[in-house]
Amino acid sequence: MDSIFAERMKSLGTETAFEVLAKARALEKQGKDIVHLEIGEPDFDTPKNIKDAAMKALNAGYTHYVPSAGIPELRQAIADYISKTRNLNASPEEVVVTPGGKPIMFYTILALVNPGDEVLYPNPGFPIYESLINFVGAKPVPIPLEEKNDFSLDREYVKKMITKKTKLIIINSPENPTGGVLTREDLKVIADCIANRDDVFVLSDEIYSRIIYEGKHESITAFPGMKEKTILLDGFSKTYAMTGWRLGYGVMRKDIASKFAQLMTNSNSCTSAFTQMAGVEALTGRQNEAERMVNEFKKRREVIVDGLNKIKGITCKKPHGAFYVFPNIEDTGMNCRELGEYLMSNGVAVLPGTSFGKYGEGYLRLSFANSVENIKKALDRIAKALEKRQAS
Ligand code: PLP
Repeated sequence: MDSIFAERMKSLGTETAFEVLAKARALEKQGKDIVHLEIGEPDFDTPKNIKDAAMKALNAGYTHYVPSAGIPELRQAIADYISKTRNLNASPEEVVVTPGGKPIMFYTILALVNPGDEVLYPNPGFPIYESLINFVGAKPVPIPLEEKNDFSLDREYVKKMITKKTKLIIINSPENPTGGVLTREDLKVIADCIANRDDVFVLSDEIYSRIIYEGKHESITAFPGMKEKTILLDGFSKTYAMTGWRLGYGVMRKDIASKFAQLMTNSNSCTSAFTQMAGVEALTGRQNEAERMVNEFKKRREVIVDGLNKIKGITCKKPHGAFYVFPNIEDTGMNCRELGEYLMSNGVAVLPGTSFGKYGEGYLRLSFANSVENIKKALDRIAKALEKRQAS
């Protein structure tokens, strides 16, 4: 029998983190103790002032449809925040609020990319980029991020890969899964390459912009003419521990913003109203909780990097941002999938590097958005599991 599914569904990928999480939960149901280092979300609770603002909004009647592009107060707060942090002039009409940052990826590709167009994207990188590029029948052009370059771009390679057919360049800094950060010089190469092209756009995924441990976050929008060519993705999930609230946004040219609003009308109608009011408090209220979380991640980064480097067969670079490490596991003698499964059976859930694309082979991704106690427990289990394996 022919498949019941539309042809395009064959090209749609997925995000393995959710599958590994389901597997870990199934093992837990059977009584096994698992340390969760697979899922990419802060283990902290959403700050109280934000939760209070949501409850206040619920009681004030923010329980109905609101404009597709977002509530005016939140669009204004986002425009102010982006203007200040990226040193540019953004207006509320250039902001589209969405349920999480993810829809901005979907809308960028749906609105701008035709079948056959080339799209550059980081590899290893967030798996949804490649999934969506394939889904619309475009050509995925991976930009390999290599350990020898500290997981930043090979600038000469990028220059070569930008062709007449390039329509979109996706960048993500700080990066999931490597923790790599793009420098001003990296961003300048891209900005220079497309300076004379008004048919090429950049999707700049800056969802981890506030989770940075050295230096300051650089945005490609800062280069002359780049604000008009960039769809800037950011949101509340990571910075304010709001993954389950589903609140994110894109900042882009007005003509593109109105197409995104149309896509919102066609899919979600609007983002939840009281959640948006909580977003206003998140951006304009006190920031001490968001800062505390970053300080805590920084301490955990030391624990996990030091611990991994002490394990035979594993070496780990220090990530500069986000809350992931991407250790090299080539000397364990196992590929990343085998090792991931072996560690799961020894009580630690991690993701194989290839969950983030083919250039992720030889690596694992571990999230350190977990307590120091759990990280130490996981390190101990990994060390013992590998010793057992090496002894046999
Ligand atoms: N971009 C990157 C690089 C991410 O890692 C994630 C979430 O894991 C997102 C975007 C999506 O975040 P949200 O929860 O806001 O949809």
